[in-house]
Amino acid sequence: MIDFFGLSKEEVESFFKDAKQERYHATILMDWIYKKNVFSFDAMSNLSKSLRMFLSTQFCLKNLNLIQQERSKDLETVKYLWKLSDSQLVESVLIYSGLRRTICISSQVGCPARCAFCASGKEGFFRNLSAAEIVEQVLQIGTYLREKKEKVTHLVFMGMGEPLENYEAVMKAIKIFTHPSMFGLSCRRITLSTVGVVEGIKKLACEEMPLNLALSLHAPHQRLRKKLIPYARRYPLDQVLQAARLYAKKSGRNLTYEYLLIKGVNDSPTSANELAKLLENEHCTVNLIPFNPVSGIFLKRSDSKAIETFCHILSKKGVNVTLRYTKGRDIQGACGQLALKKLSSLHQKEKLQTVGIT
Ligand code: SF4
Repeated sequence: MIDFFGLSKEEVESFFKDAKQERYHATILMDWIYKKNVFSFDAMSNLSKSLRMFLSTQFCLKNLNLIQQERSKDLETVKYLWKLSDSQLVESVLIYSGLRRTICISSQVGCPARCAFCASGKEGFFRNLSAAEIVEQVLQIGTYLREKKEKVTHLVFMGMGEPLENYEAVMKAIKIFTHPSMFGLSCRRITLSTVGVVEGIKKLACEEMPLNLALSLHAPHQRLRKKLIPYARRYPLDQVLQAARLYAKKSGRNLTYEYLLIKGVNDSPTSANELAKLLENEHCTVNLIPFNPVSGIFLKRSDSKAIETFCHILSKKGVNVTLRYTKGRDIQGACGQLALKKLSSLHQKEKLQTVGIT
């Protein structure tokens, strides 16, 4: 069986051609899936019964089983826990903000980057997600939104995993998200966040795909950065910045630098001044994110005063700065909080909490 959600438009059309089926049937099928969120061949009433039967023997339309769904107290964040066909688990988060409906997508099971402040990296790396598994997170959440007459407006690759370490699958998924016959989202509504995989950023710069690039900086110099992000040993700060600036130049998109504020680690006025110096004269935004507590990680959130001072110093030095108090902290759905759960404990919960999606 072929995972339909991992097929590009060209691959869907070529399947129909090889199967000696009319090309317009491919368009009809994509319309049902991506525009109407219908995942049952039986319901595709404008395809003949025999074609529907044939397609159902060729394509697999569902691989992610929702086993847990948690909503934050403020109702602005919903976290989805999916079980994959090999029983691995991943999470996605839906964030409500005004008219925006943003999905934070996972690209890997676990993460190889093992950043010191992150729950996803703490459990280690298990495997890459396929393009189909990435796309299906959005399709399934999109179905819930559709029931409320809403739709996905933005995507961020900020869930589990380092997306540039799963380059081919992530790029294929993005092509499906942006193709007008499929999701039809603009590249400008998609943000890819990376800790700085230099060759991946350079490759992305050649794609002619003007995505928003968010670089997880978290330190104003290499010495501190490599303590927080082990990948910084492989990809030193100067090389990461060079690659990110090349991306900005080629894509025409301003960079966003993510900077987690951790008490007593990177939140001093000296760090703020060093950061302002590092980004001097650059058209970019620094997104300050107060650290979210993660069980088993002994780092603390900066005090309000330190956050305010840090923000003030950057603004005064002409850096475009935003302060993001992440949503969904109470359901561990905020930045750095997505973690794998032990399957053994889930098997018991699953019986109680299984939510079917049809
Ligand atoms: S912060 Fe991102 S790159 Fe770092 S370990 Fe977590 S998921 Fe991986």
